[in-house]
Amino acid sequence: MQNFTCNSFVQVFGLERRHKKIRLFVIWDYDGPVGQINASHAYNWNKASVETERRNVEDLLAICADAGIAMTFAITGLSAVEGGSVLQMREQIRKIADLGHEIASHSWKHEWFPFLTRRQIRMSLQRSKEALEDAAKKEVLGFVLPFTRPMTWIGRGNFSFGDRGIWPLFFGGDQGNIYKVCRELGYDWVRVKERPIYEKFTRQIRLHQPFDYRGIHCLPNHYNGFDDDAIQLIQSMIGQDCVITINAHPLMLSKEGNKESWHNFRNFIKKCLQFRSEGHLEFSTPSLSTAI
Ligand SMILES: [Zn+2]
Repeated sequence: MQNFTCNSFVQVFGLERRHKKIRLFVIWDYDGPVGQINASHAYNWNKASVETERRNVEDLLAICADAGIAMTFAITGLSAVEGGSVLQMREQIRKIADLGHEIASHSWKHEWFPFLTRRQIRMSLQRSKEALEDAAKKEVLGFVLPFTRPMTWIGRGNFSFGDRGIWPLFFGGDQGNIYKVCRELGYDWVRVKERPIYEKFTRQIRLHQPFDYRGIHCLPNHYNGFDDDAIQLIQSMIGQDCVITINAHPLMLSKEGNKESWHNFRNFIKKCLQFRSEGHLEFSTPSLSTAI
């Protein structure tokens, strides 16, 4: 009855045309020790960088709690297993989830997907989902591919000349194949690199919006980092109903002078909170957001 009254009020006063808002998804690629070895710190790996990454996540959680912001943390599955990390990460993963953030899979051990077989891809997606769910005590619905590039996506006209694991010679060379496996395993969304080849040739850059591809929600990543270009991107979309996805790495927050640095992040958050207070923007996560 109360709902009915509210709806009538809204209809009478024409308020159903709600203010158009940007939904901002900040997605952290939380690599953990195994991700660092396989990606950023292959041979100069050290415990200090793992500690820094973990501490930065703690600081992020405090900032988000203060500001009432939810973000997404895409984490390697091995990090969620007892003994799988030099630093115990299971408790922190539970804490992230308990604070209302979304946990997504960032694969099992930050594999290079183009060369994986269908079976290996399945194992990575399945084991990471189970491990993260066990640690977080919440369902994991999202997948964030490690090493977003190079990777072909034949079905949508995406192609990178840097690829060597090219579909159909390699099952994992086509992103579409990976996302089909995601769907089979109960994932609901994936973050994608979406830049069809005609856009590369025409140098056209479009702010692609989330779309469905073979039953899975695909979230194009729009920007990496928090510098002035990130703020300008958001400013340029004010007044529109849209999703903007920005990604970064907790470890990079400590690299001064980087697009993902603490300095840029704090400035970015300050600006976004201003946009939020003006009614232009809300922080959300893919599973919290109903519109994707
Ligand atoms: Zn990564």
